Amino acid sequence: MHSDTSRDNGEEPPSRSSNSLKQFKSAGRGFWSNVSDADWNDWHWQLKNRITTAEQLQRLMPTLTPEEFAGAKLANHKLALAITPYFFNLIDPADENCPIRWQVIPRIQETHTASWEMSDPCGEDSHSPVPGLVHRYPDRVLFLVTDRCAAYCRYCTRSRLVSNASGYDFHPEFEKQIEYIGAHPEIRDVLLSGGDPLLFSDDKLESLLSRLRAIPHVEFLRIGTRIPIFLPQRITPALCAMLKKYHPLFISVHTNHPRELTTEVRDALGRLADAGIPLGNQSVLLRNVNDDAEIMKAHVQKLLMCRVKPYYLYQCDLITGSAHLRASVRKGLEVMEALRGHTSGYAVPTYVIDAPGGGGKIPVSPEYVLCHNDDRVVVRNYEGKIFEYPEAADGTPLVEAPTEIEEPELCKC
Ligand code: SF4
Repeated sequence: MHSDTSRDNGEEPPSRSSNSLKQFKSAGRGFWSNVSDADWNDWHWQLKNRITTAEQLQRLMPTLTPEEFAGAKLANHKLALAITPYFFNLIDPADENCPIRWQVIPRIQETHTASWEMSDPCGEDSHSPVPGLVHRYPDRVLFLVTDRCAAYCRYCTRSRLVSNASGYDFHPEFEKQIEYIGAHPEIRDVLLSGGDPLLFSDDKLESLLSRLRAIPHVEFLRIGTRIPIFLPQRITPALCAMLKKYHPLFISVHTNHPRELTTEVRDALGRLADAGIPLGNQSVLLRNVNDDAEIMKAHVQKLLMCRVKPYYLYQCDLITGSAHLRASVRKGLEVMEALRGHTSGYAVPTYVIDAPGGGGKIPVSPEYVLCHNDDRVVVRNYEGKIFEYPEAADGTPLVEAPTEIEEPELCKC
């Protein structure tokens, strides 16, 4: 009996670099080796000691490039600079193209803008019936709770409001948000996001969750958070014990590269999973970070090892000043082609473009249906082999199995 299924399938075994990407390592202590365990593992200490200025960054990382230093100097007028000591330790200071570095260290290119870029690329403000609530889809709402995050992602869709660096002056009005949800029985799903809801104290978060749970038509609660990745220390047993009282509660985390999945993150995600919380991951396709099939395959496989289902892969929104981070849709399709069929279905996210201006998420996929008419569907599989599936009038059972065909006839659709 063979245990290596990739070889049984005639596929190449995973490469050495993929194996190294999938190893779980600790972020370590780096510059903070003298800090006590109690402080290092205290999320409040991590927040208090974030790197927030260009000068601090340069002191810790003398290899900062002129583009990065200039970007960091300007960041506090656009989207603040903040990196937790824990997450900073994942940056490779010797590598200008370090994928962690690209995500959180500002660059002067953030000031370069194109006419098609927008401050609110998903049109959230125009779908906001009350401050802090976005009601774009029929049965669900986005409930923005804060403009603060543990660290700031340079490509953030909500750069206009998170960190309040550009003067958006975000003020959610919880009473009005909850009242609106209570008055709209079609809303069965509430997604708490921001900013990062897990920055709230347990008590403050619980008060929101309990009020939402008390609305009879709200079936399902979700939290969108990057805290388990930027600040795994926040995922305390007490937080998990509180969250599990509000099931069904799902959590979507946000990671982009396998190096973000450290032993600390794996343990934090494990605590959430042990509290019965289904976990999904949202990634953004980013140039120099994860626009590569091997990296993405290692990432999604590693997520499953952390008990997290890869949920969405987003084409990077047209946020102002993000061109240097945006990969092409062509790259995204290449990555998806390399995943579907080549790894477990559970590991394959849905690749989406959030339609510019507010059209919502639109799935995009490599083309697998080559022809579809009243008689048949011609499809190709992940190996490029072509198959015909006889189309049935609705309700008519098929009598013959699908066959592989040598030469597809020209499409008559
Ligand atoms: S954690 Fe989320 S909301 Fe905060 S900066 Fe990153 S992408 Fe934006």
